[in-house]
Amino acid sequence: MSRTLIVSNRLPTKVLRTDEGLTFQPSEGGLATGLGSIYRRGDNLWIGWPGLFVQDEAEEAHISQELRADNMAPVFLTESEIHDFYEGFSNGTLWPTFHYFSDLATYEQSHWEAYVAVNQKFCEAVLAQAGPDDTIWVHDYQLLLLPEMLRRARPEAAIGFFLHIPFPSQELIRVLPWRTELLEGMLGADLIGFHTFGYLRHFLSAVSHLLGWPAQNGQIETPTRTIRVDAFPMGIDYERYAKAATSEAALAHMAEYREALRDTRVILSIDRLDYTKGIAQRLRAFDLLLQRYPEWRGQVSLIMLVVPSRDQVAQYASLKEEIDELVGRINAQYRTISWNPILYFYRSLPLEELVSLYSLAEVALVTPMRDGMNLVAKEFVASKVDKKGVLILSERAGAARELSDAIIINPTDMGQLAESMHEALVMPEEEQITRMTAMQALVRRYNVFSWSRLFINQLAYTKMKQHTLA
Ligand code: UDP
Repeated sequence: MSRTLIVSNRLPTKVLRTDEGLTFQPSEGGLATGLGSIYRRGDNLWIGWPGLFVQDEAEEAHISQELRADNMAPVFLTESEIHDFYEGFSNGTLWPTFHYFSDLATYEQSHWEAYVAVNQKFCEAVLAQAGPDDTIWVHDYQLLLLPEMLRRARPEAAIGFFLHIPFPSQELIRVLPWRTELLEGMLGADLIGFHTFGYLRHFLSAVSHLLGWPAQNGQIETPTRTIRVDAFPMGIDYERYAKAATSEAALAHMAEYREALRDTRVILSIDRLDYTKGIAQRLRAFDLLLQRYPEWRGQVSLIMLVVPSRDQVAQYASLKEEIDELVGRINAQYRTISWNPILYFYRSLPLEELVSLYSLAEVALVTPMRDGMNLVAKEFVASKVDKKGVLILSERAGAARELSDAIIINPTDMGQLAESMHEALVMPEEEQITRMTAMQALVRRYNVFSWSRLFINQLAYTKMKQHTLA
């Protein structure tokens, strides 16, 4: 009986060490939801890091046993591996490069070596579990080398790879000293998926320029194999957000917020702290809106939620300072006794509160400099039960390819951003509803469940075609 193994850097359950001992906290993230129906079925398995450091073999055995009961298998990583492989190479080299922030990238040989070693560790963990007929689906930029490592050990296996971040122009990939190994690593898969055709084209161009392997009709011909590449834009669990928006808890939160805000109109901004998200530019654009259109002073507030992230990396700490300063300056300049221009929260919120903010806001400002997809944009759309509200969306987020009924902007064009906020605030309700209806139909249909199904089916089909051609 063939099984499906999912492999990602993090498991969908986080193991925490508390005063009461170990606790197992399931993740609410989109990927965990989307792949839940796959890895929980039968003998399927999800392999990844459980999120804590373990020194003691008995504790390792205990964690493995607990996770096994929920179809998960842990890969234990040491502190120095997390430092060099995860913070170093994955987040210090690949993340900035793939998001067009090459000037922030570091090129440390020791980080690269740790990256190779940890990918090898994941390879061994997968091989310990995988049978010859199993399907292996590898996820994201932390494991770019894994498909090829697995291929060498299991030439016949069905291996899929999905990249959750952008794939940049080959001019950026060229800069990486390890570009050949990284591309060859990905090409160990039978099917390689991206969020958009733009990323896919960049990948094909990198493979053709740097490895000399041509592509035709979504297929790459290497000397030994044919590899299929395709775009699979990832979605969300639409019903979950639509339902949460009308839940009693969310309605209670909303009533409370509305009372506190009185009739102030709300523009919403939600991101993880990251230089790719354009948070500082967005604040400057809001400042510009208040300068150009003084009539909005006292009338509109920006609710900005920034979720703490990667605070061990220096660039993230300095970004946090920049944001704190900008918020302080803008608030000090415009605030009145009864009105705050920016309501800034630096924390994460539970789903009901998040959804209440989505419902409350008339405008969502999603303006990343680069973003593989951006799920916040889709969650805002799904939460708008009355179909009123306007999405302002960066043309450099993967979601912009699908959500063309948003107001699409260039996030570096501060003037355009300020104008788009004004346009959103004065948009007639009828137009809001027309745009939102179109976006909801799309987000509902191409949800995270259809995304994972499509990928797995395409992988099976690709494998079958390879066999018939062989
Ligand atoms: N999110 C959350 N808690 C919060 C704020 C956001 O769980 O307090 C979630 C949000 O619902 C979304 C995810 O974080 O699902 C962010 O995903 P996105 O694709 O927008 O950006 P990423 O952080 O993956 O770069």
